[in-house]
Amino acid sequence: MAESKRDYYEVLGVPKDADDAALKKAYRALAKKYHPDTNQGNPEAEAKFKEASEAYAVLSDPDKRRQYDQFGHAAFESGGAGGFGGFDFSGADMGDIFGDIFGDLFGGGRRSRASNGSMRGANLRTSIRITFEEALFGCEKEIELTSRDECKECGGTGAKPGTKPVTCSKCNGKGQVVYTQQSMFGMVRNVQTCPECGGTGKIIKEKCPSCRGTGHTSSRKRISVSIPAGIDDGQSVRIRGKGELGTNGGERGDLLVEVVVSNHPVFKRQDTSIYSTVPISFATAALGGEIRIKTVDGEVAYDVAPGTQTDTRIRLKGKGVPYLRNKDVRGDHYVTLVVKVPERMNKEQKEALQKFREAMGETQAAPAAEEKHKKKGFFNK
Ligand SMILES: [Zn+2]
Ligand SMILES: [Zn+2]
Repeated sequence: MAESKRDYYEVLGVPKDADDAALKKAYRALAKKYHPDTNQGNPEAEAKFKEASEAYAVLSDPDKRRQYDQFGHAAFESGGAGGFGGFDFSGADMGDIFGDIFGDLFGGGRRSRASNGSMRGANLRTSIRITFEEALFGCEKEIELTSRDECKECGGTGAKPGTKPVTCSKCNGKGQVVYTQQSMFGMVRNVQTCPECGGTGKIIKEKCPSCRGTGHTSSRKRISVSIPAGIDDGQSVRIRGKGELGTNGGERGDLLVEVVVSNHPVFKRQDTSIYSTVPISFATAALGGEIRIKTVDGEVAYDVAPGTQTDTRIRLKGKGVPYLRNKDVRGDHYVTLVVKVPERMNKEQKEALQKFREAMGETQAAPAAEEKHKKKGFFNK
């Protein structure tokens, strides 16, 4: 078994002299990728997660790292360097290491085993696509997901109704067995998950036919999600108690619904600000005048000041995104006014503009300019 284990440095993909920060960074990336919350029912990811966690647990501890550098994996197996018991990398232990590193990244879903053996269920994650406006003003959505519930036939015990699971005699219900071995370095304590009961501490003699001994049933469920006004792309809504079942009476985990917001053809958003571009005519820019501007609340009238230059940015106060914590307060809408030069003009329009040019004191004649431009175009080809 020792031979089949990968080198811890190789597992994390770091050099032998990697410092703490490099180790942490490497582990964080792997743990995020393979975390059970995001890889439900994927045993390969689970194995990778455990492997990375084990490697990090050893290499991040200066004493253990020294032993590992000296003895390799043998340091932690029976017969290894004395005084240091084996790891149990299942369940609760992992949660602690994970919690240290991630804090609330995964929604504080730190799973700890209570003294009575109960454990909070894992958080479930899903995502939902909503429109730009739905994100702004909030909405109610329904999502469908497969949810595990306690089996009603056996009350979650997994034992055939009328029978009861019995306490595992191998581990006395503890779910773990401790081996003490004599080695060349002294006595070594090894903790392992009980092979008899698989860590549950109980043995089911006759399985419940309804759930085949698992203690739970799966079904498709519709859950309504209240999306608050002001939510942004990538943010999640937490629904308490709709995650995975807890074990041994532990509370359910939470359901985290990540919001994916579709782009809008007119509006762009950054935090609580909205941005858009509005074309105005050359004449309106020069003379001033009223224009209509599209906002998320509908069209509003705006007075363009005479002599407005292109790319002038104006602010429509309170027409932006509602604040997530107080939807009565809103950000602003910034509009960039772009002066459009007419591309095609009829004779009358051209003459008027030519007159305008002369009035401005410019002497160039229009036909000459057009001629020049045509020639230039020809030679450029
Ligand atoms: Zn059952
Ligand atoms: Zn047992």
